[in-house]
This record gives sequence, structure tokens and C-alpha cells, in this order.
Amino acid sequence: MTKTTYVTEPFLPPLDEYIPYLEQIWENKRLTNNGPFHREFESALCDYLGVEHLSLFTSGTIALVAALQALRITGEVITTPYSFVATAHSLLWNNIRPVFVDIDPVTCNLDADRVEAAITPQTMAIMPVHCYGNPANVEQIGQIADIYGLKVIYDAAHAFGVKYRGESLLRHGDLSVLSFHATKVFNTFEGGAIVCPDAKIKQRIDYLKNFGFANEVTVIAPGINGKMSEIQASFGLLQLKYIDRVIARRGEIDGIYRTLLQDVQGIQLLPAPEHTQRNYAYFPVMVGPDYGLTRDGLYQKLRDNEIYPRRYFYPLISSMPMYRGMPSAEQSNLVEANRIAEQVLCLPMYPDIENDVIEKIADIVSGAA
Ligand SMILES: *Cc1c(COP(=O)(O)O)cnc(C)c1O
Repeated sequence: MTKTTYVTEPFLPPLDEYIPYLEQIWENKRLTNNGPFHREFESALCDYLGVEHLSLFTSGTIALVAALQALRITGEVITTPYSFVATAHSLLWNNIRPVFVDIDPVTCNLDADRVEAAITPQTMAIMPVHCYGNPANVEQIGQIADIYGLKVIYDAAHAFGVKYRGESLLRHGDLSVLSFHATKVFNTFEGGAIVCPDAKIKQRIDYLKNFGFANEVTVIAPGINGKMSEIQASFGLLQLKYIDRVIARRGEIDGIYRTLLQDVQGIQLLPAPEHTQRNYAYFPVMVGPDYGLTRDGLYQKLRDNEIYPRRYFYPLISSMPMYRGMPSAEQSNLVEANRIAEQVLCLPMYPDIENDVIEKIADIVSGAA
């Protein structure tokens, strides 16, 4: 019987290397609340990522919700419909109205040329996504934000470790939010972080993730419990030792797929982004009208062969029940996003996938199997 292949499989370090971390936790009985591993992991991540400050969270979604609170965003926020639902959900949790803007079909990122037209007197921020880990148009988005006095919060859930023009992509915008969910390039089972430019905003974020406590008797805001535990933080420290190998292997896989699939009629690969040191978070292909099957036909054919790709991102956020009544969610406003959502298929991409499985997938896609 053939083994089932999923779109991703989490990377786990050798178990015996994790045991000493657990022994230390059992010994010092610090389980959470900014414990020693939490502090060490924050500083190790800043070093690794090349950023000044960050604040760890229990998940990327709670971090997104808290990031919006930290900057006191209300009113409307411009965002992309082509993302995981948590991007827009974080706005609804803050009673903010998402305003969807179409994507650039080449990068699958928010089309910066269309942002200005969506700005109203209620607009307070832009929340772009670095989709698939490929940089959003940070220069143009930064310029628009400066001109109109808007904040920029990047949903950087896909962008762990990505460098743009030689420095961390996470240094752009007012805040960037990472996810360390099991399915991401770097995982702590569940987890996330807000990357912040200065110590002052980090302080406010640290209060917010701890119920709003500034000290034993002072509560400065209706905060939440978003604190990462020592179990996750210590695990993250161990994962960091492997992340360079993980990303290197992902790069190899990306290269193999590209070689095998570049000439398949009707299959389009996303061009590698410019000036970018990538993390190869996903391997999306676009199934065009001149391919022998529909996208869903290819999806089914792969499933029939025990290969489970995913249609990231389909359906669009803007077509989900809580969003589809909004004026900006209309299909005519989001032509490219709707087209791409109908064509995209993310092929299995994770460090432990074997080369013969990649070849088998490529054979199925190219019609050779
Ligand atoms: C995974 C993901 C999130 C949510 O992160 P969690 O850690 O799972 O809460 C948010 N946005 C995007 C684009 C994601 O892919």
C-alpha cells in the first residue's frame, strides 16, 4: 500500500534532544508568564530573524488581534481576500470593517496600485499578507501609508526568515505578525509573534497579552491571555537549531518541482520573487484553461493517487458568509483574486518529503502517470 502524502507535514527535531528542556522545566517549575525559556526564545528569534524586538504569542491569530489593539485601530482596514481566514477574522474580532482590494495575479499579493482607490475617511490601516512568503509590495504600500497617515500591519504568517533586499522582510510596516502553527515553515506546535520596531510598543503588546497588567495592581487595557508557554518556547529554541537545514531542503524541493513542471502545458509556476532570500513556504501551481483537466480535476486525480494537495486559497475570504455581503467583497471588485482562487493548487512541500514522491507527483501533474 502506498503512503498518503499531505500538503505538508510538520518538522520535528529528534525527541531525545527535547527531553533535557523538559527536565529543566520540571526542575524550575516555571511553566509560563514570561519564564526563562520565553525570554531566551524571544532574544534568539530576534537574532535569527534580524529584528529589534518581538513578543511571543500562543497563536498567530491572537497575535493579529492584539496587534490591531496595540495600534488602537478602528474603522476600516484595507486587506486582501486571498489569504487564510484568520487575516480578516482578526479585523472582525476588533469590530473593524475589512475592505477587500484585489490582488496582483503575478505575485498573489495585494495589488498596491488599487489601494488608494479604496481609502475612505474611515480607513486607519492596511493589512497586507506576504502570500506564500513572497514579499508584498512593501515600498509602494509604505509610501501610500505615509501619504494618507495609515498604519501597516503585515500578516507575515508565511514569511518566517524571509529576507528582502538583504534584510528581514519583517522590518517593514508598523508591526508584522508571525505564525508558528504546525503547518508553517517554523513551528512550536501552536504559536506566533508580533515583530515590533521599538521597545515602547513591545511593552504595550506585552501588557496586552497578559490581561493588560502593567504591574501587580495596574491594568491598562482589556487585555487577553496570549502568552506562550515554556513548553512551546523551549521547543522553539530547539527548532531554531534546525531551521536553516529545513529551509535549505525546501529550496531543493522547490528546484526539483520547477525543473519537472516548467514545461507542462497549462501549468503555471509562480515566478521567484526579486531581491528575496526565500523560505519556500508553499509550492503553488496555477492550472490554466489550456491544461488537460480543470483544477479540481487535477486535485481529484492526485487524491486518487493518495496525494492530498490543498487549494490555498479557495474559497476566497470575501466569499465566506460573514464577508460576502460587504460591497468590497463583490466579484467585480476582485476579478483576479477570484480567477486565481479557481486555478490554484498547492503541491506537497515539507522537508521530509522524498524525492521519488516529488517525481511521482510531477508525473501525475504532467500526465505521465
Ligand atoms: C496560519 C495563518 C494565520 C493564523 O495563524 P495561527 O497561528 O494558525 O493562528 C494567519 N494568517 C495566515 C496568512 C496564515 O497562513
